[in-house]
Order: sequence, then structure tokens, then C-alpha cells
Amino acid sequence: MSARILDGNALSVQVRSQLADAAAALSARGVQPCLAVILVGGDPASAVYVRNKVAACEKAGIKSLKFEYPQDVDPARVFERIAALNADSSVHGILVQLPLPPQFDEKAVLEAISVAKDVDGFHAENVGRLSQGQEAFFPCTPHGVMKMLEAAEVPVKGADAVVIGRSNIVGKPMAVLLTNAGATVTVCHSQTRDLAAHTRRADIVVAAVGRPRFLKADMVKPGAAVIDVGINRLRDGAEAGKLCGDVDFDAVKEVAGAISPVPGGVGPMTITMLLANTVESARRAAAKAGL
Ligand code: NAD
Repeated sequence: MSARILDGNALSVQVRSQLADAAAALSARGVQPCLAVILVGGDPASAVYVRNKVAACEKAGIKSLKFEYPQDVDPARVFERIAALNADSSVHGILVQLPLPPQFDEKAVLEAISVAKDVDGFHAENVGRLSQGQEAFFPCTPHGVMKMLEAAEVPVKGADAVVIGRSNIVGKPMAVLLTNAGATVTVCHSQTRDLAAHTRRADIVVAAVGRPRFLKADMVKPGAAVIDVGINRLRDGAEAGKLCGDVDFDAVKEVAGAISPVPGGVGPMTITMLLANTVESARRAAAKAGL
């Protein structure tokens, strides 16, 4: 039997419409949610990501500010901009599009962003708060995955979950969010000895590897929920140029109980959760100002 398809586009439309209502209500109280985006250099993929984020903001009634710098910019200029945005009470979210050119210390840039405006959830303090189960901005991609599981009513409490990948932006925070939600989590990575032995007993598998069609049908337990975070551009053969995930979708969907496609799965939810974090930051600012 074919798996249920977890449609991230449809869920995004629904959540973004709720966020647009929340943004309109905040704007009516004089606090229009505002996201500032900093883009350094001319990487075409980064430019597309930023364009998509800005367009999604505009559509949801969230103000966006874009600051662009050339590839060889002195990092001091970007730090100055971040400091000014930190101090600007009309700005609720600050995002620096990664990767940055080599003259930048990425960690220092992320730490320079005010924790209260760190809507990407990459600041060490937000990461620490997340791991302690405190109020924090959750990184957008794993947050989007949790939202998809919740919307699809996939049971997380007590479930065996396997996360493949241990990056700071996806794998690790994904494991923390699943743990906080009551799953028993195994994190697998490039040094894991027998990956399939882990994935085969999982009720939930989240693949964040960056390798096309890496997770095969014989690695998945029948009925499992499979979430594909990967975004890979195929280079060779008849499919060159096509986007595909880390999951061998056509085969795995015949085994899994639920599966997210690529494109149209986690991708749109990532931007949606960025909007959600920005609206939440504006809501906190309004509450603090007694509005
Ligand atoms: P990364 O390269 O930082 O991490 C990849 C992880 O995969 C590493 O932890 C590594 O240990 C693990 N890995 C590599 N080979 C492995 C193997 N043979 N067996 C088991 N584990 C292995 O990548 P990332 O930033 O976490 O991104 C992962 C994928 O998710 C990429 O395709 C990326 O484009 C995509 N991504 C998608 C979104 C989205 O919005 N949908 C957001 C971020 C990343």
C-alpha cells in the first residue's frame, strides 16, 4: 500500500494564512512584524533563498528589510549593521544568509545577533535554551518537521525515532526537538556502523544527509513515517537538473506509512517557520511594550 503523502505546500498555505492574520492583528496594534535579512556575496542559491524569504514575508503582511554586501566586504560593516538592527525596536527578526565568505567568522556573526531577534535559532543561547526545554526560537527546518508530524497526527511520544545527520542546523536540533516531544531518539551519521539496523526499527526516520536517494526501501520499517529534509540537485543522466531528496521516494513510499516529498515537503515548511518565529518575536515585543 502506498504511504500517506505529507504535503508541506498545503500545510504551509494553512499555517501562513494563520500567520498573516496574527501579523495583521499585531500591525493593527502598531507592531508590524519585521524581518531584516543580510546577504553577503553573489551566491545564486543564497540569492534565491533570500528572494523567497522576502516574498513570503510580504505575502504574510510581514515587513522585510534587505541588506546586501559585496563578496569582499569588510566584516566590520556587517557587524555594524547587526548592532544597528539589534538596537532598532521596529525590527523583530534578523537573519544572516549562510554561507558567508571566508573572511567571516560565521560563529561570531551568529553570536552578534540579539538572542531575542535570532529567528533562525542558531545563536548558542537559543541552542542551549532549546536543549533545556526552555522558551527559545527553534531552528526553522526541524521546527517545520515537528509541525508536519503534528499536523499529520504521527505519534511522537514513545516513538523510536532515527535522525540521519548531525549538523547544527538540522540533525542535532531535530534530535533535541524529538526528544523533548517524548521520542526515543538515535542520531546516525557518517561514522555510524550499521545504519540500516537503526533505521529498520524506527517508527520515524528523518533523513538530513545531503545524498540523493540515500535511504532505500529495505532500510525502512513498514508503516514508518519518513521525513525527507534533503535537497539535492541531480547532475548527471536524463534527470540532470532535477531536485531530489535523501529518500528513494518511489520505492520507500510503498513501504512507509507516511512520507514527505521533495520538493513540496520540508522545504516550504522551513520558510513558514521563519515567518512563525518572526511573528512570535513581534508578539513578545508587543507584550513587553504593554501593547
Ligand atoms: P551537512 O552536510 O551539514 O550534514 C550532513 C550529515 O549527514 C552529517 O552530519 C553527516 O555525518 C551525515 N552523513 C553523511 N554521510 C552519511 C552516511 N553515509 N551515513 C550516515 N550519515 C551520513 O548537511 P545539512 O546542512 O544538515 O543538510 C542536509 C541536507 O538537508 C542537505 O541536502 C541540505 O540541502 C538539506 N537541507 C534542507 C533544508 C530544507 O529547508 N528542506 C534546510 C537545510 C538543509
